[in-house]
Amino acid sequence: MSPTTARRPGGGRKPSERPSKPCAHCGLPFTWRKKWERDWDNVLYCSDRCRAAAKRDRP
Ligand SMILES: [Zn+2]
Repeated sequence: MSPTTARRPGGGRKPSERPSKPCAHCGLPFTWRKKWERDWDNVLYCSDRCRAAAKRDRP
């Protein structure tokens, strides 16, 4: 009984290596924030302003 669990390199997130992605509205890259830790995959915009602006463009 020896389960071969392959450990992924960099599996644990380091606080110093926060992910970032481009804003879906303005295109500027923005960095992970604590308030998005549970919702990062769903965050598309760098700010509430961009999110509101994007909503205006697409009602
Ligand atoms: Zn933006």
